[in-house]
Amino acid sequence: MAEDQCIFCHIAQGNIPAKKVYEDDKVLAVLDINPAVQGHILLLPKEHVAVMPQMKDEIVAHTGMVAKQLSASLIRSMKVEGTSIFVANGAAAGQRAPHFMMHIMPRSKNDGVKLDLPEGKLDEKMMNMVFVKLAPAVGKQLGFEPKVSVQKEETPDKKKENVKPEKEKLPKKEPVPDDSNKADTLPSNQIPLPKKENTAKNAKGQDSLDDIADFLTRGPK
Ligand SMILES: [Zn+2]
Repeated sequence: MAEDQCIFCHIAQGNIPAKKVYEDDKVLAVLDINPAVQGHILLLPKEHVAVMPQMKDEIVAHTGMVAKQLSASLIRSMKVEGTSIFVANGAAAGQRAPHFMMHIMPRSKNDGVKLDLPEGKLDEKMMNMVFVKLAPAVGKQLGFEPKVSVQKEETPDKKKENVKPEKEKLPKKEPVPDDSNKADTLPSNQIPLPKKENTAKNAKGQDSLDDIADFLTRGPK
């Protein structure tokens, strides 16, 4: 689609009014007029691209950085428990707009937003078939050469059910432990607090998303 026919290019150029929450020379963030949830933000590159693989690396990097900050702003301002950041590349993935966009949505439990992924099964043979198809393509794109030999000897104490990787799951809501020494012994399925500059504020070893929201509402530093 030509840029002059793209509604999102017109929004980016200011020809169509939109509720802008952020703008710089590369990207624009607006409130979705048909939000999946209150606070649903669309983050758009100003330069027209249809899907992410067409984007310049520099713009992808910048978009990711802005998405991170918008996500933090949503948690801080909307007092939500988390955010979902979502991209549909192509109609098969559910893309409806002709212009690339990143959806950044504030999330709360029981907010009715359906982004739950089905849990499929892939046996060792199929896993290898997928791997040998994908790995050379990744190597070509990124210059990375994964180990092609993926056949592993199964040791008696490493049966399939034991080596099955755990799917990423949101943690169950649990009371915040009062013990400040628990931070290093959290179960692996719990989302750790952001590290780096935020670590200093994490004096109490807080571990739930509620605490992250509270933590972020105190400000970035
Ligand atoms: Zn466009």
